[in-house]
Amino acid sequence: MKGGFAGKVLFLDLGEGGISSRELEASDALDFGGGLGLGVKLASERITPAVEALDPANPVVLSAGPLVGTSLPATARCYAVTRLPAPRTVGWCGGSGAFGSQLKYAGFDHVVITGRAERPTVLSISDDRIELVPAEEYWGQGVRETTRRLKERLGRSAGVMAVGPAGEAMVSFALAMIDQYSTLGRGGFGAVMGSKNLKAVVARGSGEVRVADRRRYRELSQGLLQSMREYPYLKEWQDLGLVKSLPIVPAETYRRIRKRRLACPSCPIGDKDMIEIPDGDLAGLTVRSTSAVNLFTPMIYGFTDYREAVKCSATLDDLGLDMFEFFSLMDFAKTLVDNGIAKLESREPEIRLNSLASMEAWAGKICRREGLGEILAAGAERMVKDFGGPARELAPPIIKGMVPYVGPRPPLAWDRFGTMELGQLLDPRGPHVGASGSPTYFAVRPRSVFPKHLRRMGVPEQAIARIMGGHRKPDGHESRTPPSELPSGAGDASREQDELNVGALLKYSHTWFMILGSLGICARAQVNRFYHAELCAALYEAVTGVRTQLPDLQARADRAWRLLHRINENLGLSREDNPVPRAWIGRSGFKNYVTAAPLSEEEIKGMVEEYYGEWEGRG
Ligand code: SF4
Repeated sequence: MKGGFAGKVLFLDLGEGGISSRELEASDALDFGGGLGLGVKLASERITPAVEALDPANPVVLSAGPLVGTSLPATARCYAVTRLPAPRTVGWCGGSGAFGSQLKYAGFDHVVITGRAERPTVLSISDDRIELVPAEEYWGQGVRETTRRLKERLGRSAGVMAVGPAGEAMVSFALAMIDQYSTLGRGGFGAVMGSKNLKAVVARGSGEVRVADRRRYRELSQGLLQSMREYPYLKEWQDLGLVKSLPIVPAETYRRIRKRRLACPSCPIGDKDMIEIPDGDLAGLTVRSTSAVNLFTPMIYGFTDYREAVKCSATLDDLGLDMFEFFSLMDFAKTLVDNGIAKLESREPEIRLNSLASMEAWAGKICRREGLGEILAAGAERMVKDFGGPARELAPPIIKGMVPYVGPRPPLAWDRFGTMELGQLLDPRGPHVGASGSPTYFAVRPRSVFPKHLRRMGVPEQAIARIMGGHRKPDGHESRTPPSELPSGAGDASREQDELNVGALLKYSHTWFMILGSLGICARAQVNRFYHAELCAALYEAVTGVRTQLPDLQARADRAWRLLHRINENLGLSREDNPVPRAWIGRSGFKNYVTAAPLSEEEIKGMVEEYYGEWEGRG
């Protein structure tokens, strides 16, 4: 490859202390694109059904795609592919920050880590100087202090991926963070790092990413930047970030507490935040976060003082706990205690979801695995197992060992059933925040805007017709509009009353996400809206010098997904392992994305079938 790829894969066996590297195989890059897709391939070569998530043999494959480290907008995405402890499946966590680009500048596209270090360790990659550094001095420290000190050691430009005490204690919902503000979250990736005694991975490089065709690259890059500059809401995004689309935080409050906006390398939007509490007992507290919106999450669970909500989120981030799973489990634990099913020991604090003192105390107990904290640390399924039948009756929905991120009921109530909601059932990683860049992400968008987005994602016209034609009814009568009627008029507002085939849409959303992930482009809606599939193919060709058209990119992305499905089937995960949670159906359950009609279990199962049908060419 003439550009894009750094050209090497780094291998580390933490147990043996073995460090080696080899050339990236061109055929692998051609088959899987790079980045996330190639990460799946490298992990698949090392995972067997006998290898559990916290076993030393479980590989962690860190992956940065061919566009990572270029100046193209928002191309800082880095992925960790591994077997995850909460869903017990092979999946990935993705984050941005400086880690991916610095890894490329150091000369590596992937790092494959196996084994378990005898003592706490930091893996330091500084160009070709690869060191396993004893890390007792960092062990027990939060993500914030660990990151600060490691950046002091390698320089501010270094990318730091670190776990907090939750990862060290192998809490099933521990996450890792990059540069303090980007989460490798959900599924327990932090616990996998902890199981390897790996406190952090730090990367810094002095190289650059070569571009094969500079003239074409400049043309495409300028066009992309021009479309961003012309976007009518760009200023609003740059001002408010995620607060624009999720106004959980009033804009005035946000502007008052925002110290500055943070951005991943090469991102002109920068939706991450540094917040400073201006007044009250917590005045002066400064926090870096994925977004101010996330810092306010505890208010959904009853916090009334935003300052305390920010402090609580900052504590959870510092410990390295996935805050959505944390609050869901605390809510479940409180229900068990209130119903006399679980008992607190006399010295255990009362569980109050709206109290900073209570939540911080319980977060600490989980990380120390004390008392009930030991059970909570193992996740929702362990709670059901330990507290028996009555607990099962009161349990929240559990999918692959995790509580879904969004449900039709408070506190996080998005009741329209789009691709993110169905994806919670079908994503091999379990219920994740989102893996799609799909137009159904969060907002209830009018059906008329879908064809435009689907074409941007590279969905073939026949598939657009199926998606816009609605889903099959459970009795076998289809609500589809004949495909032959649709392509030219698929976007007509007159069809607004028709439905949407969410199962088929999810398949193409997965493909689109994998294309973005394999190249290294951020999938957040505010960024991926500027990329379109043909442009991705052209950029891939300009950067790598490998002749590429859209069908090539799609074939590589689909190959990675099929491989992921196959690996998980080999681990025993079949499509029958996707039971629809009871709380999702009926009048108080999820609603049809377009018509808002309550969904039945059969309808959701029909969508599952349609998802697999698209994969198998039965669409
Ligand atoms: S949109 Fe946010 S997560 Fe994505 S590249 Fe920009 S700053 Fe990073």
